[in-house]
Amino acid sequence: MLRLITDFDGPIMDVSERYYQVYQYCLKQAQEQGQGVKQLSKSEFWELKRAQVPERQIGLMSGLEAEQAQKFTHLRRQTVHTLPYLVYDQPVAGAIATLEKIQQLDIDLVVMTMRRVRELDAALENYDLGRFFAPQQRYCLSNDYVKTTDVEDKPRLMARAVEELAPCENVWMVGDTEADIAAAKSYDIPFVGVLSGIRDRDRLEQYQPDFIVNNLREALDLILAAIG
Ligand SMILES: [Mg+2]
Repeated sequence: MLRLITDFDGPIMDVSERYYQVYQYCLKQAQEQGQGVKQLSKSEFWELKRAQVPERQIGLMSGLEAEQAQKFTHLRRQTVHTLPYLVYDQPVAGAIATLEKIQQLDIDLVVMTMRRVRELDAALENYDLGRFFAPQQRYCLSNDYVKTTDVEDKPRLMARAVEELAPCENVWMVGDTEADIAAAKSYDIPFVGVLSGIRDRDRLEQYQPDFIVNNLREALDLILAAIG
């Protein structure tokens, strides 16, 4: 049996529009009237996010003063995962067809995400994705979980999954950030990084994933070829 543990945002969901909407809102809130800041285009903004440029820096590059950039960063952190903005998320092109393929192949599919239960449920409902993940195959944060950093929290989720899921000889993980890589490495699970998410190739390479491909479909093909 093959078990595929996949991250949600990046391989399955495209969060770029949500992040960009929140950016625009926070930029508006942080500036003085008539200040004339320079709002980045969506592609400029997303390129910076994928290069892992810190939020504060993005604020400065948009024309905010140092103190305003701090306010911008703070507000952004408070806003980005709130329900009114989650509606901007869209499935990555081809991701749903790939999930259907995974289901047809009888692969044991597990989702592992830093979303909270309510944030994951919102997306599963909006796009009818619940059919791919039975409740016991969903690893996410409880609604009241106190987050530390993704790089610490995600291996904790992985530890829970390893403890709870039935043993399986072939386990692979797919994700788009260093947090996913840290989780996979903590249990020697082979990892395929996808470029459909919030890191570009340069950034992803720094964290030494086993493979890098464009999207979930290519990750599936690579894994199927690797296990023969
Ligand atoms: Mg992700």
